[in-house]
Amino acid sequence: MNPQVFASIEELRQALARERLSGSRIGLVPTMGALHAGHVRLIEAARSECELVVVSIFVNPIQFDRQDDFERYPRPVESDLLTCGQSGAAIVFSPSAKEMYGSGNTVHVEPGPLAAHLCGKFRPGHFRGVATVVLKLFNIVRPDRAYFGEKDFQQLALIRRMVDDLNVAVEIRPVPTVREPDGLAMSSRNRHLSPSEREAAPVIFRSLLLARNLIGQGLRDPSEVRSRAAAGIEANPLCRLEYFEIVDPSTVQPVGSISGPVRIAVAAWLGSTRLIDNVEASHLPT
Ligand code: AMP
Repeated sequence: MNPQVFASIEELRQALARERLSGSRIGLVPTMGALHAGHVRLIEAARSECELVVVSIFVNPIQFDRQDDFERYPRPVESDLLTCGQSGAAIVFSPSAKEMYGSGNTVHVEPGPLAAHLCGKFRPGHFRGVATVVLKLFNIVRPDRAYFGEKDFQQLALIRRMVDDLNVAVEIRPVPTVREPDGLAMSSRNRHLSPSEREAAPVIFRSLLLARNLIGQGLRDPSEVRSRAAAGIEANPLCRLEYFEIVDPSTVQPVGSISGPVRIAVAAWLGSTRLIDNVEASHLPT
């Protein structure tokens, strides 16, 4: 079925108020569009737990640290609407930047130490923009549940923390990363890869699996895991490693020694495309 599309906050609020009165639980899937099978998994998860699914499609200008990345971000509107309808979303909220920010936001959500490492370190202002737009979406849609991919693990940790710290009445539901058959995490940015970059890209996931194995075998020193596992990315002439970090899964701070569950996270550039990925790992019980 075709989803109902709203660009107006007020009209969306009125439609959702009616749905809420009729007892529907509302699931929100925030996206920037250019939808792929990873997004579809989120929409399907929402559909299985909520009577009404709202997908937001908004390329949020305030979370981009580079203007060229914002400008070239893909915006295939028609096929996105089709994907939303086919995966069970009843409503698509697709506002303009003017509708979301009017003449400019002066108040923002400060993400704190959770944004100090990984992407937060390399993309100044990114998580402030993410937290701000997600809180706005929560206030506009007032969902019962909201769905986020583990692919963006630091974002998920931040949103969970924001909801706890600011007492937002929404349940955050994580969804595992959906991958291509060769292991590459699906991403809207994958379409920017040249054929040779696309061929090289799975080295990122392979390095994460290697790190997970090393940790599983009992290696406790993060820098040793890093130097052995990241070597494949560093040796690839098409890749430029931005970070390879082993962090605490909830605080997103680098660990000094691996003594419990951790998250291994990577960002690497292939040409002018920046890709991120992560896996969880834990040493074997001794
Ligand atoms: P984006 O449109 O890239 O901002 O992503 C919107 C949502 O989809 C976020 O919660 C992402 O974590 C999630 N997502 C993106 N790629 C994947 C993937 N490959 N598997 C699962 N979730 C994903």
